[in-house]
Amino acid sequence: SNDYRVVVFGAGGVGKSSLVLRFVKGTFRESYIPTVEDTYRQVISCDKSICTLQITDTTGSHQFPAMQRLSISKGHAFVLVYSITSRQSLEELKPIYEQVCQIKGDVETCPVMLVGNKCDETSAREVETPDGEATSKKWKCAFMETSAKTNHNVKELFQELLNLEKRR
Ligand code: GDP
Ligand code: MG
Repeated sequence: SNDYRVVVFGAGGVGKSSLVLRFVKGTFRESYIPTVEDTYRQVISCDKSICTLQITDTTGSHQFPAMQRLSISKGHAFVLVYSITSRQSLEELKPIYEQVCQIKGDVETCPVMLVGNKCDETSAREVETPDGEATSKKWKCAFMETSAKTNHNVKELFQELLNLEKRR
């Protein structure tokens, strides 16, 4: 089918909703509005045809465990977001990554993208680019730094996920 379900995980405040809203609506807000769980649909071109990305924006660490398992089971691809301004937000992704592996069996069969967001915040950086890259190598997944604020790599992130899915 040409329908891909993408699930966005990460700690509260790293910019999950901002990335999704930037991609789907082209907007950015400075304020933090806690998310319940929202799903957005976006049509995107791929391989001369069109695909629908169904993007689920999760609540982060406050998600109910059963809901998290269900999101993983239903998802085709996963975006694991941390903020480059918080080393802890990268560390908080580990249990989520492990749960994705556990439920999906092998991450090499399902696209996972590790995303270091807020790359515009250079003076507050706590996670260097090579550290993000090293984690992605260890996790055998793709890696990108983004900024929902400046719109850096946002389209590219979702396009690349689709490319990974197509190449499987
Ligand atoms: P979520 O809890 O992961 O969904 O995070 P939000 O998308 O609600 O963003 C949390 C806060 O970080 C908000 O105040 C956003 O304006 C801000 N934010 C999100 N993305 C970026 C970014 O790329 N750069 C900067 N400087 N701030 C961001
Ligand atoms: Mg949110």
